[in-house]
Amino acid sequence: MADTIVEQEHEAAAAERDAKLAAVAGQLDEAPPQDILRWVLDHHPGTTSLACSFGMQSVVLLHMLHEMNRLDEVEVFYLDTGVLFQETHQTRLRIQAKYSFQAVRVAPELTWEEQQAKYGGHLYERGADGVNQCCAIRKVEPMRNYLADRGAWITGMRRRHNDTRNRLPVVLWDQANNLVKVNPVAALDDATLWGYIKANDVPYNPLYDQGYGSIGCNTPVCTRPIKPGEDPRAGRWAGMGKTECGIHVDGRSVRSLDSSQL
Ligand code: SF4
Repeated sequence: MADTIVEQEHEAAAAERDAKLAAVAGQLDEAPPQDILRWVLDHHPGTTSLACSFGMQSVVLLHMLHEMNRLDEVEVFYLDTGVLFQETHQTRLRIQAKYSFQAVRVAPELTWEEQQAKYGGHLYERGADGVNQCCAIRKVEPMRNYLADRGAWITGMRRRHNDTRNRLPVVLWDQANNLVKVNPVAALDDATLWGYIKANDVPYNPLYDQGYGSIGCNTPVCTRPIKPGEDPRAGRWAGMGKTECGIHVDGRSVRSLDSSQL
């Protein structure tokens, strides 16, 4: 009986929390990204992280925070899977130098080589199941561990990425990782982001200029350039029916996205 009462109290508290966040999401739904960033920094001081792939969304968010003089209030982190492109690391170094911050490296327990030794080769060569397992080991688990003691995280998720995200709120409770999740650029399209990058001379990953629409791990399966007219995400796990790596699964309305879209 006592357990039931405690469970009911937890459920009621969760429902109240979700309702409050839904109200905030409604108020900020059409707000500029800077207002959404301001909200999370004001409500989660000292415990807000920015997930950064150094992709186009990330660099826009970093520039905005820098312009707001609030970048030092955020802990920027990136997932180092061990097989990121050199261009991604170089972009990280350039943008860290420009905006004077140091991103936290979040890495899996196993090195890339240790993983191959343990599993007898590349998991990404073993179809969708192998890819999912690899992403779970190298992205999902390390990020979940990192977020365990954080209060809120900022992502670069956008509504246009696929249909499952059309209802993506700008603020929500992240059920899987147990913290507030904020998506300040949810409503922005590619043209708007690129316009911002160019107008503000924001450093970006040069692979975008080489035909890559979405940049993740540097393996033959996981990232390739796209052809003219293809969806930007067509170059990720091409032909495998997979579009997401699972780090954004929240167990409810919004499914997931891959770390390159942070
Ligand atoms: S994107 Fe590819 S290499 Fe990177 S974690 Fe997923 S399966 Fe592994």
